[in-house]
Amino acid sequence: MSTVIQPDADGLRRAVEILRADSVVAFPTETVYGLGAHAFSEKAVAEIYRLKNRPTWNPLIVHVADVAAARELTDEWPDRADELAARFWPGPLTLVVRRAAHLPGIGASDDTVAVRVPAHPVALDLLRASGLPLAAPSANRSEGISPTTAGHVVRSLPDVPLVLDGGTCSWGIESTVLDVTGDVPRLLRPGALGLRILRDASGTIALPESETADGVARPSPGMSRRHYAPRARAILCKDVRDVDRSGLAEPIATLVYEGSDGTEVLSADPREYAADLYAALHRLDDAGVATILVQEPPQTEDWLAVRDRLSRAAA
Ligand code: AMP
Ligand code: MG
Repeated sequence: MSTVIQPDADGLRRAVEILRADSVVAFPTETVYGLGAHAFSEKAVAEIYRLKNRPTWNPLIVHVADVAAARELTDEWPDRADELAARFWPGPLTLVVRRAAHLPGIGASDDTVAVRVPAHPVALDLLRASGLPLAAPSANRSEGISPTTAGHVVRSLPDVPLVLDGGTCSWGIESTVLDVTGDVPRLLRPGALGLRILRDASGTIALPESETADGVARPSPGMSRRHYAPRARAILCKDVRDVDRSGLAEPIATLVYEGSDGTEVLSADPREYAADLYAALHRLDDAGVATILVQEPPQTEDWLAVRDRLSRAAA
């Protein structure tokens, strides 16, 4: 069973001891809780993949305390990375850069490494106290709902030895991942940091093939990989009120946003919606719901990250 402890001096000391022994510790970030381990210890990283049952082709993000530590992971730190880091770090933006020749790959990443400086004080304390770069994917079983509280971590990963409790994550959704190895920065994963603010800082951003800009319908749902999924079957609906419920497993719940009635009513503001989404899915699972009818959010860019998560949850 996991021990959940406060991130005070003693808690941090225990966490650092475990990390230095090549084992894992769950800790809060401003996005979601991470399952942390020394990013360049083969043994520690293997423990992450084992506990999460994560496919080995899915690479990990390396968390570091500051820009100087990020630069140590690469021989090629682009000016653009410098500008973005100056503006958005600490914060929910992950940058993919060329990996330094002396470092091992993490997961199936080719010659690149993904890095960010998290904004949560506990994450920063842990990075500084350990002096280690920490790989920290979401602290849940692979494909499941990401944890936004320490309680979510324990329920999904009861075998994690230690969980630092830092309360509820403020963003509640994963970081935005941006590849800055080429001339035009490329969005690899929509996330907490919105595209508009990124464009303001960086100009044009290339979008992934499977997601297109404002107003354009998503292509084939078959392109979505299942991820972020509750135990219940989630179904995305144009209008949850119009759904023919015969043949759907009961109990049935609805997840909507403000302005209509539902079992879980989230904010009509995309940032607030994102912050509550995983907690709402956890609540519906805990309530033993079998089917979740999800009201589709608007097809606008502000909702890109939320729509990405919902489409994968429903895949
Ligand atoms: P997480 O599951 O939050 O640890 O995030 C892992 C995600 O970060 C992956 O699914 C990729 O989208 C992205 N990522 C991490 N490392 C790399 C890399 N070297 N190259 C491209 N994307 C990466
Ligand atoms: Mg995850």
